[in-house]
Amino acid sequence: MFRGFNGALFDFGLNYLHFFVAFATLKTMLDQKTLEELKSALTKEREVLIGELETIATPDPNLKDDWNVKHEEWSENQITSKEELEAGENVNESDEDMKNKALSDHLELRLRDINNALKRMEEGTYGICEVCQKPIPFERLKANPAAATDIEHAKEHGV
Ligand SMILES: [Zn+2]
Repeated sequence: MFRGFNGALFDFGLNYLHFFVAFATLKTMLDQKTLEELKSALTKEREVLIGELETIATPDPNLKDDWNVKHEEWSENQITSKEELEAGENVNESDEDMKNKALSDHLELRLRDINNALKRMEEGTYGICEVCQKPIPFERLKANPAAATDIEHAKEHGV
């Protein structure tokens, strides 16, 4: 009698656990519609980034996801004299190059994050923290669909 009661209690506990696990999974899993929305946001941002990158850089033919910043060709008539060049007449141009390089690096990094997120969607690992393997809260994904980690691990991961 006592045994039976314990067994029933155990069954009840197990059922409750199953229910709890099922509920937790349901709550954290992204449904197809949400995934499609996040994917569309990623794809749109990707297009914008590529558009911006194309104005200042060209894709590196040898390195995937790498872009080379375009340099203004210094034509003969731009350099009026050797003295002017030495005096820093063309300094603005290299400033521009440096600005473009920094901007290009920034855009490239973001583009890489987006490409990685799209890849995770294809592989079915999207929305899972790359550090602790826990589901990333939807609010975070909504704010940054390219997020590869939850907030807890965002700093050490750098995304
Ligand atoms: Zn984490």
